Amino acid sequence: MVDRTGVLRRTRIIATLGPATDADGVLEDIIRAGVDVVRLNFSHGAPEQHAARAAAVRNIAHRLGKEVGVLVDLQGPKIRIEKFAEGRVVLKAGQAFALVCKADAPPGDINQVPMSYLGLVNDVVVGDTLLLDDGLVALRVERIEDQTIHTTVLTDGALSNRKGLNRLGGGLSLGALTDQDREHIKHAAAIDADFLAVSFCRSAADMEEARALALAAGAKPHLVAKIERTEAIAALGEIIDASDAVMVARGDLGVEIGDAELPGLQKKIIREALDRNKVVITATQMLQSMVDNPIPTRAEVLDVANAVIDGTDAVMLSQESASGQFPVKAVESMVRICLGAERQFEMDTDFEKAPRNLQRVDQAIAMASMFLAEHIKVRAIIALTESGGTARYLSRFRASVPIFALSRHEPSRRRMAMMRDVVPINFDSRGLPGRQAAREAIKHLFGLGLLADGDRVLITSGDHMEQHGATNTLRLLEVGQGGQAEGLGVL
Ligand code: PGA
Ligand code: MN
Repeated sequence: MVDRTGVLRRTRIIATLGPATDADGVLEDIIRAGVDVVRLNFSHGAPEQHAARAAAVRNIAHRLGKEVGVLVDLQGPKIRIEKFAEGRVVLKAGQAFALVCKADAPPGDINQVPMSYLGLVNDVVVGDTLLLDDGLVALRVERIEDQTIHTTVLTDGALSNRKGLNRLGGGLSLGALTDQDREHIKHAAAIDADFLAVSFCRSAADMEEARALALAAGAKPHLVAKIERTEAIAALGEIIDASDAVMVARGDLGVEIGDAELPGLQKKIIREALDRNKVVITATQMLQSMVDNPIPTRAEVLDVANAVIDGTDAVMLSQESASGQFPVKAVESMVRICLGAERQFEMDTDFEKAPRNLQRVDQAIAMASMFLAEHIKVRAIIALTESGGTARYLSRFRASVPIFALSRHEPSRRRMAMMRDVVPINFDSRGLPGRQAAREAIKHLFGLGLLADGDRVLITSGDHMEQHGATNTLRLLEVGQGGQAEGLGVL
C-alpha cells in the first residue's frame, strides 16, 4: 500500500521475475520498492523454479505485511524458431534464408533454421511478411517446397535461438492452449497462482477453456486475457466479458497489427475493460532502455505516464526486472512516474456514461458511493468485502479517493492487489452487526495511520458479510477523537 515514498499510490505495478530478481536480496528490494504483483513467465524456466520463486515472494510478503499477487503467464502458441549451431547468426538484407519445417532438421546456420511448429509450412503463403524477435528481423516468403519456407531477408539483423515469429497482419492458425499450457495450468494450480494469463487468446471460448482447466485442477485464479493478436481485437468485448482482466500485450500486438495502431488500441482496450467492469494491464517495453541503463528515457517516462492517464490499473515490467541490470531502479522509476502522473492528472468521473440499468445491488451501492465521493469531500471509501467484488466496482470509476478494501480472505486481498485505487487490508468483521463492523473498521484504519481525526469516510458493507456479493449498505461517517466513528449532521 504505502511504500518507501510514504504516499498512497493508485496505479499497480507488476514485475516479471527472472535471473535478475534471483540475485541476493533483489526480490525483497523490489517488493519493498512497490511491486504489487509478480509475473512468472512460463515461456522460460522450469515449473519447479517458478514454484520456488512464488514461495519466496509469499514469504517476503508475509514478513513485510504486504499483499503481493502471483500471476502465472502461459506461453501459449507462440511460434518460435529452433536453435542455431552457433547460438546466433547475423542476417543481411537481400540474402536468402529458409525456415525448415521438418522434424529431423539439423541446427540452424546462416542459410536456414528449423521451426518448432512444423505446421507453419501450411499456414503461410508466398508474399507474406514474417517478423522475428518482435519485428527486429523481417522475411518475405518467396516459395514453399519440400516442407521448407524459402524467404528473402528484408532487414539486416541478428537472430538468436528460440526467437518468436509472427506474420504481419496476424492469422497464423494455432489454438490458444497448447499441450504444454495444459500441463502448466496444473503447475499454476499447485502454486495457488492468483492470476492466470492466457497468451494469444482469440475468443471467449479460449478463456472459458482455460477457466475450466484451472477449475479441474482445483484452482480459481483470476483470468487475464492477453490481447496480442488480430483476432482478439475483433472479439474484444466477448473476451473481456469472459475474463477477469485483460493485458494490452504491446509486444506481439504491435508486430501483428503494426506499431502505428498501438496508441489507439491501448486506449480502446483500457476504455472497454473499464466499461465492462474489468481490470486492465498495460505491458511490454515500458522502460526497455533500463535493461542496460539506470535511468529511463524521456519517451519511456511519457509512455508510463500516458498509460496511467489512459486509466490502466497496472503497468508491467518484463525484461527490465527479469533479466535487466537494474531491476530495483526500474521498479523505483515506475513508482516515481506513476505518482507523478497521478498527482498531475485527475480523471473526471463521468456519471453521464455510468450504466443506467444496474443489475446488482453491490454495483448499485458502489455507484452511489462514487457519486457521493465526487460531490462531498471524503478521505476514503472503505469496502468491507468478501470476494473483492465491491472494491472492483468502486475502482472502475477512477475517483480520486483511495478505496480501503477490508477482507478476511487472503486470496481475495491478493487479487485486489491488481486494482487501481484499491488498498487491500486484512480485517475480519464476522459476527459484528453492520454498525459495529463499521466502527471497528474505522478504528483499525486509524490504528494503521490511514485515517485521522476529522476525516470523513464512506463505508460499504453487507448485512451478511459471509456471503459474496451481499453488499447492500452505505454509511457516511466522520472519524472522531481517537478513531471513534461518529455520525455527520452537516456536510
Ligand atoms: P509476452 O507477452 O511478454 O509473453 O510476449 C506480452 C506482449 O506480447 O506484449
Ligand atoms: Mn506476447
